[in-house]
Amino acid sequence: MKAEVLIVGAGPTGLALALALHKQKIPFRIIEKNSGPGTASRAMIVHGRILEHYRQMGFAEMIIEQGNKVEDVQIFMDGNLKAKMHIGDIGENLSRFPYILSLPQDIHEEILVRVLKERGVEVEWNTQLMSFKESDHHVQVVIEKEGITEENNFVFLCGCDGAHSSVRKNLGFQFEGGTYAQIFYVADVKSSIPSPGISGNMFREGFCLTIPLPNGNVRLIGIFPEEVVKDGIPSELAPVIPFIEKNVGIKIEQVNWYSPYKVHHRISDHFRKGRIFLAGDAGHIHSPAGGQGMNTGIGDAVNLGWKLAAVMLEKADEKILDTYETERMAFAKMLISTTDRAFNSVVGKGVETRLFKNAVIPYALPRLIAFPRLRKKLYKKVSQTDIKYRDSILSEGQIGQIHGGDRLPWVTTENSDNHEPLKSMDWQFHIYGQDLPELRAIAESSAIPLYVFKWKKEMDAVGIKENSIMLIRPDGHIALAITNRELVKAQKYLDEFKIYSINS
Ligand SMILES: Cc1cc2nc3c(=O)[nH]c(=O)nc-3n(C[C@H](O)[C@H](O)[C@H](O)COP(=O)(O)OP(=O)(O)OC[C@H]3O[C@@H](n4cnc5c(N)ncnc54)[C@H](O)[C@@H]3O)c2cc1C
Repeated sequence: MKAEVLIVGAGPTGLALALALHKQKIPFRIIEKNSGPGTASRAMIVHGRILEHYRQMGFAEMIIEQGNKVEDVQIFMDGNLKAKMHIGDIGENLSRFPYILSLPQDIHEEILVRVLKERGVEVEWNTQLMSFKESDHHVQVVIEKEGITEENNFVFLCGCDGAHSSVRKNLGFQFEGGTYAQIFYVADVKSSIPSPGISGNMFREGFCLTIPLPNGNVRLIGIFPEEVVKDGIPSELAPVIPFIEKNVGIKIEQVNWYSPYKVHHRISDHFRKGRIFLAGDAGHIHSPAGGQGMNTGIGDAVNLGWKLAAVMLEKADEKILDTYETERMAFAKMLISTTDRAFNSVVGKGVETRLFKNAVIPYALPRLIAFPRLRKKLYKKVSQTDIKYRDSILSEGQIGQIHGGDRLPWVTTENSDNHEPLKSMDWQFHIYGQDLPELRAIAESSAIPLYVFKWKKEMDAVGIKENSIMLIRPDGHIALAITNRELVKAQKYLDEFKIYSINS
């Protein structure tokens, strides 16, 4: 079958898009200019919302098995323990994955490549996109593999080609934003003293975060002390080691990998032009606060994947493709501003930073986290389970606190949980209460399955009212939220967007 989509880049975003398109049986190719998966451990955190998507695609357990659940976070000031916060199941009752998972990006990518391979898809390594041109019916591309040039046509081109995206540059999009003044280092080291779990270490000369790695080594992410970088960025970790050993409580025996870097916050002015899309770092880059960068790229991929599939299979109106940019750009902008604030609170120099570092982080935060409501709020924000697309043209209706555009709240049901049917990655109606033959008839006209869940009191706690009716999108967001007196809206929605089951 001829590939209709070309994915450029096999980082986490491109690999997730490949898995999403494969799930929808869309023929595609994925090319990567490097010779194999990434070898640097870069992004260390996988959040709950991404594990929910991985469950939909059938490999969440493989990722979880290789990672470590973050149980505790400790705060040290000048080498002294100031606070220990138990994170564990911080999002209990909010998701099947109520925790933060730590997994190095290289292992993560390697698993995604393996899953694709098991499903019959090979990443084309050593293969680079050289140029492209869009016409009315396709995108003409020039690809080069080991000196051999290929010209080909695709229906859609997806630039998942990272922060230096040539796809973005060729489209002429601006990548506005800025660069933080601080210079960072990231390193994987072997320590003769075990690292005390995840810890944030603040000291007079700088800041260093430690994360234990599954192989017993320690990941360090820090800001260089000013005196170390005053004459230039060191080519080795050596000049920083005395500061680390004095304040972080480890003894470095061996440096396995070290990289200095600057942190940028930028966003492309568009994520789409005609048949060409940008996803992941190609479209937006953030400060590392909250470990959101990679997770957001994977979220982009899932959002784009089902929309491309639905349009290509003629199971939805083409206008749904416009919602990829509006939904994901709104989220990326919000993320850039919140991670920017969080980042500046820790690395800035003003009174606010001193207050944050000396009072909020060591004293107030551990106490606040002990409150169940605040724990829940924090989990929802950080895990990306709170993502809402309420302003999207695809989002309609409201029942109680639940609006069209929200992620389907997670609840346990008699046999499993209400996210179990989302594994189909297809449209579905949910009723939380009494079955309705009239709705069944509407659903059947578009071959959309209808799931009836017996309502129980616990559902109220996550905002699901008795007899709520929801039309759920393939990515698990609510398209339409209505009562049993508003069934006409369900038919109207399906007609407006020409929705038909993707899998039928
Ligand atoms: C030092 C460091 C530490 C980080 N730490 C964190 C963290 O703690 N948490 C977090 O969430 N994020 C972190 N990040 C960011 C995270 O790594 C990125 O957000 C993530 O890799 C983005 O994935 P992506 O697939 O969009 O892009 P990338 O991972 O950059 O993948 C893009 C791929 O496209 C390929 N490519 C580019 N051009 C072409 C072409 N023309 N043809 C073919 N292939 C091409 C590239 O070779 C690359 O493999 C960190 C980044 C760095 C550099």
